[in-house]
Amino acid sequence: MPQINAVLFDFDDTLVDWSQRANNDGEIYRCHVSNVYDYLQETTVALPDRDAFFQGYLDAITQAWQEAKKTWGGANFAAIWQHTLATFGLHPAPGELDKLLQVFDWQPVPGVILYPDTIETLGALRAHGYKLGLVTNSMMPMWMRDIELAAYHLLDYFDARATSGDVGYMKPHPAIYQHVLQQLGVPPQQAVFVGDRPENDIAGANELGFVTVLMSPPHLNHEETAVQPHFIIKQLRELLPILAALANEV
Ligand SMILES: [Mg+2]
Repeated sequence: MPQINAVLFDFDDTLVDWSQRANNDGEIYRCHVSNVYDYLQETTVALPDRDAFFQGYLDAITQAWQEAKKTWGGANFAAIWQHTLATFGLHPAPGELDKLLQVFDWQPVPGVILYPDTIETLGALRAHGYKLGLVTNSMMPMWMRDIELAAYHLLDYFDARATSGDVGYMKPHPAIYQHVLQQLGVPPQQAVFVGDRPENDIAGANELGFVTVLMSPPHLNHEETAVQPHFIIKQLRELLPILAALANEV
């Protein structure tokens, strides 16, 4: 058993708890899309009404994820906005698109909270000398998800992190794990991957040779799946004795 030098995490429902979120999946975007709408209204004559604009955005997201899942490519947020705007006959220059993503003003999702042991567990792992990475299936660029990481005081714990939107591949595609492993300078055989989705997080990590840990808090109701992790935990702090045991096996 090789020595474990790094622990890589999924983000949503692995480090933060989505069970108490206030709105459904589409609604979490409404106020942010409205920010973009307000901004465009200052300079654009022929905008559709606000609800049609929001629906166009949601449709573009659905379509982008459906396409991405065919090849485990990464849905890309700037491309989604380009598509949304094109639907309404708007064709912003690349610089203008960047501005729209800033105006979107992404923030932590209301009701999404840290697990009670997230900070203490990451702190303990760092104190033990493990490199930490973050690998998230997210259409947004990392700088947008960093807004959440900073708000939860998680940003400084990670040596490397990536979204599928930036990398162009999503878990379980090997390229997104490899992207972060390369930044850490650690091969998958010397790393643990922790995630809550068997078919995405665990399947891809198993394939590459990580030690895999399924995060399975009660609200996720994991059913029997063909994908088997090496370990299953209900709380993040359970990682610490697992890593201690792996270190003793070396
Ligand atoms: Mg997740």
